[in-house]
Amino acid sequence: MPKRKIYVAGHRGMVGSAIVRHLTSLGEDVLTSSRQELDLRDQSSTHAWLKMHEPDAVIVAAAKVGGIHANSVEPAHFLYDNLAIEMNLIHGSHEAGVDRLVFLGSSCIYPKFAPQPISETSLLTGPLEPTNEWYAIAKIAGIKLCQAYRRQYQRRFISIMPCNLYGPNDNFDLMSSHVIPALMRKVHEAKCAGAGDLAVWGTGTPLREFLHVDDLARAVVFCLDNYDEDEHINCGGGSDISIRELAETICKIVGFEGRLTFDATKPDGTPRKLMDSHRLRERGWSPAISLEEGLTNTYQWFLQNHT
Ligand code: GDP
Repeated sequence: MPKRKIYVAGHRGMVGSAIVRHLTSLGEDVLTSSRQELDLRDQSSTHAWLKMHEPDAVIVAAAKVGGIHANSVEPAHFLYDNLAIEMNLIHGSHEAGVDRLVFLGSSCIYPKFAPQPISETSLLTGPLEPTNEWYAIAKIAGIKLCQAYRRQYQRRFISIMPCNLYGPNDNFDLMSSHVIPALMRKVHEAKCAGAGDLAVWGTGTPLREFLHVDDLARAVVFCLDNYDEDEHINCGGGSDISIRELAETICKIVGFEGRLTFDATKPDGTPRKLMDSHRLRERGWSPAISLEEGLTNTYQWFLQNHT
């Protein structure tokens, strides 16, 4: 296959950087833009940038992301920034004549009480989980934008919905991070301080499905080459784990032997969000990195980059 010029928007983030690593290993021509060079929330400069560079394909991995706490204190940023980034990249790609675009969303687009495992058809069938509805509404709009440009302009724009992701380049800031980097940092610091116990947010009972970001990166490139349908497609690891069990696994990997306590004054969020990813599996993608292996390599990355 001839080399394509693929623009990865959001290449400094955990997802974008994993996609760049994977595309580079495949010998593709990867295009990126730095934050100083281009603010993706700025419509005219984003449109102009796309027209100037004329990529063959665009991957929308740029987003304002964060964990359960960040979502609740920065609703305006989660809604406005994400809507602006999507609108500018999707419409700008259309105007620049880009035929292929992959938009990345999240499993939080689904209703809080969607039947499990959650199928793509559950979208817009019930109320959202309030702790992340700002982000979810923006991501739902992104899916609809892709569908609208397919319908009106025959653009081959597609959307992928990953489950909770983790891996190298994750955000380890305790106030804005997701659960895996947060717990990894807290458990590491508790071990270094010789603490006897460690408080985990919430009751420990919520169930989450996790996927290593390198597995997602393979799925994104797989879909770029093999998926071209109106409907968004789920991409998950295939099983879920309670926050308590996750915390225990992280303690084992880090080597912390203290006691875990659960702070029920902190929000649990949605009780469960296991996705049904059979459509993607049937087409030929499957995850290759187990949770234990992925957590171990992420902890190594944390030790090398944050300590
Ligand atoms: P969510 O999947 O959108 O709810 O995102 P998170 O990754 O932020 O949270 C997942 C679950 O982990 C929630 O039930 C949190 O309450 C729980 N959790 C436990 N400890 C922590 C922590 O230190 N940070 C975060 N972000 N979540 C935690």
